[in-house]
Amino acid sequence: MFRPQRRNERPPRLGESPIAITRSVLDSALASARSSYPNEFGGVLRVTAPRVIGELLLLPGTTSGRRHANFQLYMLHADLAVVGTVHSHPSGALHPSEPDLRLFRGWGRRHVILGAPFTADCWRSYDGNGRPVPLTVVASANAPLPEPDSSDPDGA
Ligand code: ZN
Repeated sequence: MFRPQRRNERPPRLGESPIAITRSVLDSALASARSSYPNEFGGVLRVTAPRVIGELLLLPGTTSGRRHANFQLYMLHADLAVVGTVHSHPSGALHPSEPDLRLFRGWGRRHVILGAPFTADCWRSYDGNGRPVPLTVVASANAPLPEPDSSDPDGA
């Protein structure tokens, strides 16, 4: 079971860090995770509007295995719109593993982990230090942005 970690209350740097993700990106990632099961799925996240993740990139050369997805991040150095990663945990765990934390700390501002069975709520987002951070699901990259401290991804 996922056990929420203690949240650090330091205010987010809104000028740089995404606070929302489009429904289509999230659904695509969850669908890819389901189709990759029991292997891991991995991709990278791109912003298409200020603070909104609106594109999922599948990297050529990314290999998936039962143990861990490998990210070929050297391919992304020129793309400043790439803000982080997404990958699946076939085990269903939603917290970052030790290799995940090393990946997060090394690069990127938002990282999404998807856990089996990959239904709509089976995901969490983290910052570069592996701390859970809210990421609100929006209908499109042009939708009005939520309040930055909203912690409910569906706004319900
Ligand atoms: Zn992982």
